[in-house]
Amino acid sequence: MKRLVLASGNPGKLQELSALLADLGYELHAQSEFNVPEVAETGTTFVENAIIKARHAAEVTGLPALADDSGIEVDALDGAPGVYSARFSGPNASDAANNALLIEKLSDIPSRQRSARYRAVIVLMRHATDPSPLICEGSWEGIIQLEPAGDGGFGYDPYFFLPDRGCTSAQLSAAEKNRLSHRGKALAELKRKLVEQGV
Ligand code: IMP
Repeated sequence: MKRLVLASGNPGKLQELSALLADLGYELHAQSEFNVPEVAETGTTFVENAIIKARHAAEVTGLPALADDSGIEVDALDGAPGVYSARFSGPNASDAANNALLIEKLSDIPSRQRSARYRAVIVLMRHATDPSPLICEGSWEGIIQLEPAGDGGFGYDPYFFLPDRGCTSAQLSAAEKNRLSHRGKALAELKRKLVEQGV
């Protein structure tokens, strides 16, 4: 098994990625196993932030490193909250506070102008100075609705309406969300690239 480090402290992400990568002959380790400290996400794009995190984990551990970054872009807000999705209403903001701010900003905007998309980027750096990391991306189109619906998912899901489905992403089963989502698409691309190119 080839070893990789995941530049995230999120146990859900570790579990999801470990399962996918074990099938391909990779053993994924949490960066906490190596005492990798958190790094500031100072980029203004998802790709930059994912690279910052992966590079940092590769530097500290000497292993190839995976990192992801994700968020939601709302067209009427020029792409905000974007990379600031988790901290839209301030540092350590709750989902409820972020959602309340989003809805406040969109309350006077008609529904057809509330188009939005989730984006996910997963990056694999073979080593800290890798000049050409594997970059895998996924997006998922929707419309922000002003009233919440559903109790699945997390974050902005109760407000993310999927016109094709006639429901929000919080109303999908976890399996359906994984199949359709930005993260599901980025993961599928990662799997394809690892099969083709390896590490
Ligand atoms: P991170 O990539 O873990 O930093 O998460 C970025 C933020 O984007 C999350 O805290 C959520 O606010 C938002 N986000 C990313 N993906 C989703 C999703 O699938 N559903 C709801 N919110 C999401």
